[in-house]
Amino acid sequence: MVLVGSDPASEVYVRMKGKKCEELGMHSVTVALPEDTAEEELLKKVTGLNSDKSIHGFLVQLPLPKHIDEKKVINAIDPKKDVDCFHPANVGKMLIGEPEFLPATPAGVQQMLVRSGVDTKGKHVVVVGRSNIVGKPMAAMMVQKGDGADSTVTVVHSRTKDLPSITRQADILIVAMGKPNFVTADMVKEGAVVIDVGTNRVEDPAAPSGSRLVGDVDFDNVKKKTSAISPVPGGVGPMTICMLMANTVAAAEKAAVSR
Ligand code: NDP
Repeated sequence: MVLVGSDPASEVYVRMKGKKCEELGMHSVTVALPEDTAEEELLKKVTGLNSDKSIHGFLVQLPLPKHIDEKKVINAIDPKKDVDCFHPANVGKMLIGEPEFLPATPAGVQQMLVRSGVDTKGKHVVVVGRSNIVGKPMAAMMVQKGDGADSTVTVVHSRTKDLPSITRQADILIVAMGKPNFVTADMVKEGAVVIDVGTNRVEDPAAPSGSRLVGDVDFDNVKKKTSAISPVPGGVGPMTICMLMANTVAAAEKAAVSR
């Protein structure tokens, strides 16, 4: 993992991923670089990791400081080691249904549905959010042929007109907005499955740290209407890390086969 700067949330994510590697017996290295690292310097590190045979997969933790072009960095990662599945070549392969890797967060959501016994075939999945990291790949995965997919997918975003009228049609509602408690009970159909990707830190004077994590869904009220709902924290977050680990193992296996 490559971490640039000291964004507290990024530091936590990198630490959690490192811990999971250790738990699974995987060799892991964190390359921590200062906030003012030049783009050139970061690109050199990426090139070094691309050619380092002891590393099967790596990621550059986003967001990067503003002076660094994220796209340039993502494009510099060897697609065979791109375990986040952010490289355009890997996104394209996923889109045409021939994935090298699956993007970790959407894959985590999909596995959560599959392993919870939620039938997705022919179901109306509404994805709230259209980011390249969550919303778009999530929609692309659910519309593929096969188990855990075969859904009818609608994507909504900030320019969508009358969003609640669409979310209320969802058999499966997947929310990735970054807006604390945005989705309220009146926006959800009775019996729907709701997956909350949102991870927002909000002030809470009652919490020991003065803040706590909440999702994009008003969990306590929405859960009364749902047949299943994922919590924040403890829902999609841990699944994302598991899928990242799965991608890394897959990268190592592929490297062993092609050696
Ligand atoms: P982005 O900010 O990149 O995207 C947010 C999306 O939500 C955009 O498409 C935006 O629309 C849409 N949106 C924002 N406000 C509204 C609104 N009022 N009505 C409708 N749509 C709206 O965020 P990410 O996709 O990167 O992340 C989303 C959330 O998921 C965040 O809380 C993030 O922390 C969390 N996350 C959690 C992960 C995990 O592992 N648990 C991993 C990755 C993210 P528009 O495009 O029109 O601006």
